[in-house]
This record gives sequence, structure tokens and C-alpha cells, in this order.
Amino acid sequence: MKYLFSIFALVLLFSSCVEKTKIPVYVWTGHQKEMSDTELKEKFKDLKNKGIDGLMYSGGQDPETYKRVGKIVKEVGLEFHTWIPTMVQGEDKKLDTTLYALNGLGESAFDKPAYVPYYKFLCPNKDEVYDFLANLYGNIADIKEVDGIHLDYIRFPDVILARGLWDKYGLVMDKEYPQFDYCYCDKCVSDFHEISGINIKEVEDPSAIEEWKQFRYDLITKLVNRLADLVHSKNKKINAAVFPGPNSVAKKIVRQEWDKWNLDAFYPMNYNDFYLEDTKWIGEVTKEGVLLTNNSKPIYSGLFICPNPEKKTKEPDPENHGLLPEELADAIKESMVNGAAGICLFTPERMKDAHWVEFKKAIYKDYSIK
Ligand SMILES: [Zn+2]
Repeated sequence: MKYLFSIFALVLLFSSCVEKTKIPVYVWTGHQKEMSDTELKEKFKDLKNKGIDGLMYSGGQDPETYKRVGKIVKEVGLEFHTWIPTMVQGEDKKLDTTLYALNGLGESAFDKPAYVPYYKFLCPNKDEVYDFLANLYGNIADIKEVDGIHLDYIRFPDVILARGLWDKYGLVMDKEYPQFDYCYCDKCVSDFHEISGINIKEVEDPSAIEEWKQFRYDLITKLVNRLADLVHSKNKKINAAVFPGPNSVAKKIVRQEWDKWNLDAFYPMNYNDFYLEDTKWIGEVTKEGVLLTNNSKPIYSGLFICPNPEKKTKEPDPENHGLLPEELADAIKESMVNGAAGICLFTPERMKDAHWVEFKKAIYKDYSIK
């Protein structure tokens, strides 16, 4: 009997060890002003119990919000990364309207944004833009409870939209069109002329000029790396939400050469439904990112969750598509066996009970054993 009991104890011990093998999981989540501290704490505790390790937290630009929320996040024992858009900035007294990017027709993203009214993109080639961002992220990185700065919209506007969005906007984006192509401000045009000898405004098809593409990848890369130096000097982490790839998608449609960025981690938005792709594709783009970064930085595969699974097939807007509960485990597996360090959910609020059931089964697995 004593022997049996020992075996039983061993089995219990073993299963609790197995239980500890969990993949790292982050979530993108937004601040809800109306929630009290107690309610926030309950929400964060619930996420922690479900297996979440850290939050990419969108709470606007006021450091006070992150001070308040960060304290609660830390009490619960989660990582706290502040999720704040970078190049997209609404009207702001601190930003002169001349700092916004110009498209190939000479129109400003400030008063004639592409696709949607909030697409007010700044030009990444202006010192005042860096100063604005350095001030914004610097003040937030100074907050004790903040573990990291999470950049988003750290890119140019989509010169080509993801395939799944063409119908929504009534566009056929078979090539780069000037109204979606940025930045043709005087500084970008003259700086490019200086280094290449090419006056890009006189070129009939700028998309054929490889150096012009590279020039703009480099503008974003330089900006990111300056911000990384600043945040690192405050002993905080810095990471970013990026488009998949980078070669297959990110460089081509939003000019992110993110394998050159000095960040601590990457969160590629491997949102297969936006590209009319399946979960297998999630594995392919994960692998691409891991290879191009020489497996030197953690890559957390961003998964887009379907908020109303029963209506997905009737829903025309891809924003309401995403992974069904029955696809979630496979999306997690594809990410992990292809080298992801973990996953990031967009968003926990979109997850239905059926998603959480599948999620729980999938995160307590050791994917190093294929
Ligand atoms: Zn410019």
C-alpha cells in the first residue's frame, strides 16, 4: 500500500512538472477607462490563470494611465509592455502639419490620408518626428512598472493592401500606385537625390527603382534603432508589432525590413485571413522570420482570433474573420514547430469559450519534440 501511494505521489509530481511546460503567451489588449482598479485586477488575474504571461497594453499616450495600470499588472505578476502607435499620429499641437508624409501625388497624409481617416502617417525622415517619439516613449519607459515599449504602425502606409482587404476598399492593388506610395516630401526627395543621383519625382515608375525602396526601408530602420538605443539606455525592453515576413510581406507592402532592427523581440501579425491563407502559412512566415533574424531574437507569432465563429462565413469584412476555435491549436503548433518563442493573441476579448478550451490544450505542450 505504501508502495502504491509512493507511485501515486510520483505520478502527481510528474504531472505537475509537465503542467509547468507552457509556451510563453502575450496578448494585445486595450485600456477600458470605465474599469476600476479592482475590476482591472480581476481581468488581469483571469488572463494570468488562463496562461497569459504578458500584456501589450494600449492605453493612449498619457504616462499616468500606464503608472496606474502598471502597478496592478505587476501585483498580478504579468509582464507589462506599453502598446503605442508610432508613425500614425492624430492631430497634435506638438506636431506641425508639415511633419506628415506626402504621397506620390504630393498629398499629405495629414489632410488626405489613404484608405481610412486615421491613416495620418508622419514622415520618418524628420528630426522633429524622432524628437516627438523619443519624448513620448522616453517618458513612458521611465515608469518603474513598464517592462517594455511596444511599437506599432512603425512603417509606411500600405502601398499594397493585404489581398483579403481589396474587396473591402474596392481596390485592385496589382502594383504600387502613387496615391498610396510615401514619402515624397522635399526632404525625402532631396536626401535620396543626394545619395543616388536620382530625382525620384522625374521617374515614371518609382516602384522599379530598388534603391528608392531601400532608402525607405532604411528610414524606418534608422528610426527604430535610434528609439531602441534610447529605450535601452533606460534599461527597458523595446519590441514591435510587424507585418509577416519580412521578405514575403512586410518589405513589399509596408516597407519594414525588420530583420535589421535592434529590437529585443518581434511580434509579427501572422493574420492568415487577411492574406486569404490557412494555418500552414502561419508556420511558413514564422520560419521565414526566424531564419532571417538568425534565430537571434524571440519571435512571438501574432494570431488573429475570430470574434464570432458562427458568422465567419457570412461576414464580408476580414476584420471580423480570424482563427476559429478548431483552427487555433493548429495555428499555435505551426508557429511553435517553426521556431516561434511563443504566441500573442489579438485579442483575448475576441476569444470565445471554445477558443479558450482549445488554447489550454495547445499551450501546455512541448513543441521541441516533433
Ligand atoms: Zn518625407
